[in-house]
Amino acid sequence: MTAQGVYLDNNATTRVDPRVVEEMLPYFTEQFGNPSSMHGFGARVGARLDWAREQVQDLLGAAHDTEIVFTSGGTESDNTAILSALEAYPSRKEIITSVVEHPAILSLCDYLENKRSYKIHRIPVDRQGNLDIAAYRAALSPNVAVVSIMWANNETGTLFPVEELARMAKEKDKAIIFHTDAVQAVGKIPMKLADSVIDMLSLSGHKLHAPKGIGALYVRRGCRFRPLLRGGHQERNRRAGTENAPGIIGLGKAAQLALESMAFENSEVKRLRDKLEAAILAAVPNSFVTGNPETRLPNTANVAFEYIEGEAILLLLNEQGIAASSGSACTSGSLEPSHVMRAMQVPYTAAHGATRFSLSRETTEAEVDKVIEVMPGIIARLRVLSPYWDSAVNAPKEFAPTYA
Ligand code: PLP
Repeated sequence: MTAQGVYLDNNATTRVDPRVVEEMLPYFTEQFGNPSSMHGFGARVGARLDWAREQVQDLLGAAHDTEIVFTSGGTESDNTAILSALEAYPSRKEIITSVVEHPAILSLCDYLENKRSYKIHRIPVDRQGNLDIAAYRAALSPNVAVVSIMWANNETGTLFPVEELARMAKEKDKAIIFHTDAVQAVGKIPMKLADSVIDMLSLSGHKLHAPKGIGALYVRRGCRFRPLLRGGHQERNRRAGTENAPGIIGLGKAAQLALESMAFENSEVKRLRDKLEAAILAAVPNSFVTGNPETRLPNTANVAFEYIEGEAILLLLNEQGIAASSGSACTSGSLEPSHVMRAMQVPYTAAHGATRFSLSRETTEAEVDKVIEVMPGIIARLRVLSPYWDSAVNAPKEFAPTYA
């Protein structure tokens, strides 16, 4: 528990690990050279960038360090991947994605559909958030330039079988480029890209205890590539602009630490997540987990509470110093449930109350216990206000719709 309270919003962003800060600091001060320069000041920074690239390579299990291109984060990596594929295969006018992607993919696809006349196949999901594989298979064709399917969903943690989806795409047509937005998955689950046929993968530093504004795009050797930013020769002509040296070095350190703590993430972090989830479900009637309960990230619990508003839950949690996030993010000021909840057909009466708790290796047992202690009271307090809830008997009223 920090002085600021309990932080269970690690899918939004993570605290920069102090070891990452320490690694970065010299590159703001005495090691300030431009890595492209032909002198010692530059070469010393350049050598550390090479080291950072190898750390990211190792975390991804990639075959070559040259397959890692540093970017400003997940959004840039996602945009680069899709726009590169479209430029590499100009005669192909179709894109396959899923309905539950992050806006970094979805709003780019909306733009490409509306302004550039691409056909977008948005593959649906079932009530557990699993991808409709038959619909995916049916959409594959030689008209498709790029498939972009996320590895892990940011709201529910549900994992898609991206390695298998990539194989299916290649079986249909070797030239289809397969990209995965793995921003939530990298550092949380083991990866071995060298053994897969995934062509491109996006990751973001601030989701794995590195700073905001740094990320990477994995581009398989041999994959056709067109840069998004043109200018200098940095990143082997794949991403122009003087490198964010401290950020890259921080990402390298964060990748090294993530690899070291992978086993911990999948045992201890998962144990705390499961404890939190089980205790809440046991104590709060008409609550349930959204997403696939098995095939999902070890750190994410998305719990829907029927008949209440997620925003109200967050406010009351915040009063207790607890940070979580709402599945019904009213990003546009409307009270629409999130596109992920709608895609899984979670009914409005439950989708509104979806609350995401996302843990990290820094989460403590005491933090989890604190949430377990306050959650039933918060929900009971809000349900008093619900027209569907009978607080006298602590159950829904007879006419209340329920999520079976
Ligand atoms: N993709 C996913 C799945 C995400 O969760 C996020 C961030 O929330 C992004 C992309 C965007 O990454 P960035 O914030 O580094 O641009």
